[in-house]
Amino acid sequence: MKHAKPLPSYLVQRFHGWKATSYENNKSWYRHLGEEGQHPRAMVISCCDSRVHVTSIFGADQGEFFIHRNIANLVPPYAPDGDHHGTSAAIEYAVTALKVAHVIVLGHSSCGGVQGCIDMCKGNAPHLEAKESFVGRWMDILKPRFSKVADIKDPKNQARQFEKHAVLASLENLLTFPFVKDRVEAGQLTLHGAWHDIAAGGVEVYDSEKKAFVAL
Ligand SMILES: [Zn+2]
Repeated sequence: MKHAKPLPSYLVQRFHGWKATSYENNKSWYRHLGEEGQHPRAMVISCCDSRVHVTSIFGADQGEFFIHRNIANLVPPYAPDGDHHGTSAAIEYAVTALKVAHVIVLGHSSCGGVQGCIDMCKGNAPHLEAKESFVGRWMDILKPRFSKVADIKDPKNQARQFEKHAVLASLENLLTFPFVKDRVEAGQLTLHGAWHDIAAGGVEVYDSEKKAFVAL
C-alpha cells in the first residue's frame, strides 16, 4: 500500500501533547476502558461536518457515546438486501450488541448535505442527480420531504426547517428497524431528535407533544 504516508507533523505533535497530558493523567481510566470494553449509554448519529463537535457540546468522555457520522445525519429505511449499509450496521451493533439506552439524531445549521438536497429538489444540482453521485443518492433519503418546506420563501429558514426534517426522517426510519421498534416499545430504548445551531451555540430538541423543536 504505497499511498499510505506518515501523518502530517502538526498531528504528530498534537498526539504527543495528548499522550503527555490527557493520557498520562488518566492512565488507569484508559486501561480500564481498554480492558473492560465499551458500555456507552447513548448512540449519536450526527453529520460528518467538522463543526459538529458532539463530544464537546455534551461534555462526553471516552466510552460515553457510540458515534456514527454520515452526510446530513440520515438513517436510511430498513433494507436487509445484502448490500453495504454502514449506517444500518452501526445502528444494529449499538442497539443489539451494546444495548444503548438512547439514540440521539443530531442535525445542524448550514448543513451542506441538506443544502445539496434543496438544490437537487429545485433542479439546480444536476451533478447530484447523476446516478454515480454517492451524495446525491444518499440525499434521496430526504428528498420526499422537500414538499413540506417547498413553500418557505426565505432560503435560510427553508434550509433550517429542512435540516430539522432530516432529523425527523431519520427518527421515522429508525423505527422501520424491527430491533429498534421492539426495544422502543418495550421501554428499553429512547429515541431523541436534536438540532445544533453552530453560530449561536444552541441546541433544540424535538418535543413530540408540541410537534416542534424546542431550545434547551
Ligand atoms: Zn451537515
